[in-house]
Amino acid sequence: LGDLLNRFTQRHRQPAHASRSTSPEPTMNELLEALALDQFVPYFQPKADLLTGAISSAEALARWRHPVRGLIPPDSFIPLMEHHGLIDQLTEQIVAKTAFAWRKWDSEGKRYEISINLSLSSLSNPGYAARLSSILEGNDIAPSYIVFEVTESAAMSDLPHSLENLARLRMKGYGLSIDDYGTGYSSMQQLIRIPFSELKMDRSFVTAACKDNAQVLVLASSLALARELRLRSVAEGVETAADWRLLRRLECRYAQGYLIGKPMPQSDFLDGVALWDAAYLALPSDVRADP
Ligand code: C2E
Ligand code: MG
Ligand code: MG
Ligand code: MG
Repeated sequence: LGDLLNRFTQRHRQPAHASRSTSPEPTMNELLEALALDQFVPYFQPKADLLTGAISSAEALARWRHPVRGLIPPDSFIPLMEHHGLIDQLTEQIVAKTAFAWRKWDSEGKRYEISINLSLSSLSNPGYAARLSSILEGNDIAPSYIVFEVTESAAMSDLPHSLENLARLRMKGYGLSIDDYGTGYSSMQQLIRIPFSELKMDRSFVTAACKDNAQVLVLASSLALARELRLRSVAEGVETAADWRLLRRLECRYAQGYLIGKPMPQSDFLDGVALWDAAYLALPSDVRADP
């Protein structure tokens, strides 16, 4: 395992993230140029099944491969792209590149379900669902392999177009996930009206529950809600074996976080999966065993 880990970290050493405080905000022209030059790419972060340890899915997370500044994280450009009306173009590129990665892995005998993040601002365009599904259909990806993640917000229930787009995607057979559940506007009304298929517990819930026993109740009740509504449960920010053990005990189904793997470029993903498979077997048996 040590050897595998060494080889992996050698190869996987990434350019440092650009520092947010010193780098200037990109301008609209710079963003447009980056889109034209295809500089945005998805990194893939694996998710593991808490029952078996197996990785069967991943989340696509956008990165900007800047020729000078190196790898720029999404928080430094997604809000700007939303502001300048460029987010739909970014999403289309991420979707197309995710489809490419999916087919590449498929050709190696591996099929993963991939989650893609959507911006709420896109969902207010009528016909957006049709556009997304036409890109995926054009790339021969069955809807059952794609999940769209959206962060819940008050805006959702106000906008008939958002509801319609989400319902259309679900009707086509795509998964729909509520991202960062528990941080924003959580409304039971919304949970019931929109045909979500997955509830994704925010990282702060998971971190809090692991540090403070009283907070376990918050996480446990959200997981109970997911079960009650027959939604698949995923926990973000799973960083330690103790987090894994707790989530297993609370009967959460899937885990995503640095314990399992960081977001990786497509070319490193299968090695990352192999590394986790080995690390999982090396976990203490009480972490893996049934409670
Ligand atoms: P998110 O969808 O909630 O994604 C999870 C974020 O948590 C990712 O940050 C991931 O790298 C980070 N993370 C995962 N596991 C751990 C962990 O164990 N510990 C810690 N400390 N962090 C962890 P990232 O990649 O910087 O993305 C930030 C946000 O940017 C995403 O949050 C998502 O809302 C947004 N985003 C990323 N890609 C896209 C995209 O293509 N389109 C849109 N609209 N939004 C995107
Ligand atoms: Mg997400
Ligand atoms: Mg999230
Ligand atoms: Mg988040």
